[in-house]
Amino acid sequence: MTAVVAIDIGTTSAKAATYDEGGREHGVAEVGYPLAEPEPGQAVQDPGAVVQAAVEAARRTAGAAAAAGLDVAGISCSGAMHALVAVGAGDRPITPVLTWADQRATPQAERLRDAHPELHARTGTPLHPMSPLAKLAWFAEHDPATAAAARRWCGVKELVLHRLTGAWLTEPSTASGTGLLRLDTGRWDAEALALAGIGPEQLCELVPTTHTTPLTTEAAREIGLAPGTPVVAGAGDGPLANVGVGAVQPGIAACSIGTSGALRLVVDRPAVDPHHRAFCYALTPGRWVVGGAINNGGIVLRWAGSALAPDLGPHPEAALLELAAQAPPGSEALIMLPYLLSERAPHWSALPRGAYVGLTRAHGRPHLVRAALEGVCQQLALVLAGLRDAGHEVHEIRATGGFARSALWRQMLCDALDAPLGFPRGRRGSCRGAALLGLVALGALDDLDRAADLVTIGERLRPEPSAARVYAAMLPTFAALYEALAPAFRTLRDLGPGPGAAPAASRP
Ligand code: ADP
Repeated sequence: MTAVVAIDIGTTSAKAATYDEGGREHGVAEVGYPLAEPEPGQAVQDPGAVVQAAVEAARRTAGAAAAAGLDVAGISCSGAMHALVAVGAGDRPITPVLTWADQRATPQAERLRDAHPELHARTGTPLHPMSPLAKLAWFAEHDPATAAAARRWCGVKELVLHRLTGAWLTEPSTASGTGLLRLDTGRWDAEALALAGIGPEQLCELVPTTHTTPLTTEAAREIGLAPGTPVVAGAGDGPLANVGVGAVQPGIAACSIGTSGALRLVVDRPAVDPHHRAFCYALTPGRWVVGGAINNGGIVLRWAGSALAPDLGPHPEAALLELAAQAPPGSEALIMLPYLLSERAPHWSALPRGAYVGLTRAHGRPHLVRAALEGVCQQLALVLAGLRDAGHEVHEIRATGGFARSALWRQMLCDALDAPLGFPRGRRGSCRGAALLGLVALGALDDLDRAADLVTIGERLRPEPSAARVYAAMLPTFAALYEALAPAFRTLRDLGPGPGAAPAASRP
């Protein structure tokens, strides 16, 4: 049976699995690498370790596929978006990979936001430190020697594609997360390149997401596949997460809460929110993905465990959820702003901090824990409200991520979003999405709509009306607190960055 090896290059690991024509998953492999924080606020990876992990994960799943008698017809890749690495002479990386979580370019992003707000509308990428445009501006200002030595700038998937094929290729999906690509023409934006201080010849060649390039003999030997096996260019992990859960038609959103979180919707033309709340990235010709990512997802539960319940031990998730279940929806009018890490959607600002608002003596630990989880859900509800406000209809949401292990948190999200939630079977949405895109590219599936038919939904939830009413009543106050507390956030920032201002780095 024809199959495709999918590789998903993530923030802390490369995952690979083989998928057959029916979308069934075989031989899952995962190889980790450190996310380091050499300076506060930085979040970098070793490019060599990332590429080697991707090759090793592919080798393991290819071995499992061979043992299962599957005929691997191609390789397809998903890559973490917004990564930036400089490549020097001899095609060697000369910087670490600056991941989406690296915040060093915060001042550059803020300046770009003030001086060139129109760039968000033109490129679809929020003017945020995650954006490679802001990172390039940082290099031009703080490390001109590296900027001068860089023959090329690219992301992680480009490094892996180069290792597999010998070619420096990118595609509109990953490129649309750089802040350097025009959404209307699908070509590099001359003004953005000028602000970044680079020329188009320093970027990878743009090819369609379904473009294939032969696997080199050397890479074929390493992975254990035939030389010349087609390598599909693939796409960014965010847009591919929608493909992986079958949310590729207008009206069906994908929502995830893992370490971070996101809510995304496929639309049939580029659509940029005039209020700059949402991103818009390309997927395939005729499909774009709009939405927002949040930094404060599962890490909020982890914080609740260490700060509020150290007595519950090192893996307190289930016990924390039991505590949360003791408080009612709305936590008796207690709001938690979950901005423990600088937040992304819908404000895209490094300013906010976390807060509990509405505390009384009647609130106990269950309320504090529940309000924290509700804060994560309400932030996603704000992202959804922004999409609807920008004219996008959403009538169904497919949810994935580690949060779904808890029945309480699943229903809480359903009630906060006040929309039917479906939980697709299987994890690894981006990896599955890469595989489905690969099957389309290789001609084994007609298009992404047929690919979506292969996704099966396990549990389906409907909002519980009384809880949904409570969350809807609290959402405007949750939203307004961001503006109301901005002066306090500013004062607190001036008093000090606070401990652990950067994302959870150094996770193996
Ligand atoms: P990643 O985004 O890193 O792939 P996952 O999708 O596995 O991560 O989600 C990890 C998150 O899942 C953790 O941060 C934690 O908040 C949450 N989680 C882990 N166990 C449970 C549980 N039993 N109930 C609810 N949430 C959980």
